[in-house]
Amino acid sequence: MASIFGHGLVAYTTAKLVDSKSSKILLILAISSAVLPDLDVLAFKFGIDYLHPLGHRGFTHSILFAFVWSVLLSLLFGKARKLLFAIVIFLSTVSHGILDAMTTGGEGVGFFIPFDNSRYFFSLRPIKVSPIGINEFFSEWGINVLLSELKYIGIPCFVILTVLFYIRKSNG
Ligand SMILES: [Zn+2]
Repeated sequence: MASIFGHGLVAYTTAKLVDSKSSKILLILAISSAVLPDLDVLAFKFGIDYLHPLGHRGFTHSILFAFVWSVLLSLLFGKARKLLFAIVIFLSTVSHGILDAMTTGGEGVGFFIPFDNSRYFFSLRPIKVSPIGINEFFSEWGINVLLSELKYIGIPCFVILTVLFYIRKSNG
């Protein structure tokens, strides 16, 4: 994974970008959905191999999972704006795998599970992989992760949010 900060910020930016009237619940669910796929680290506890379809960066990082999850959440919480709600949740969830596929470490991402169990990385991988444990995170490694995310996730998101703010302000 990138860190929860990186994933959360991308989801927040996505929600703001797609739906200018994002409700609080949508923002919260978008951010949670961008972190959710890493619950699959529990697989290690059950002895499921990293490269198994249900292993880390497996099914919960797939496009199908994001799709099913977004439909589910939009039916439950989308109210009168189900489609927009589903799009934001889908993009937020899928953004997790996309960021992971741009990290320097671990195995690739199973975007197409269960149809294709291969793991994928993008050729551009500037984001330092984040440690899985909390203890490791409060270390030089953690600092390097945050610095690389600040550069490759934080600044782009900040620029997008600022531009959006001024465009929407000038449109009243
Ligand atoms: Zn992940």
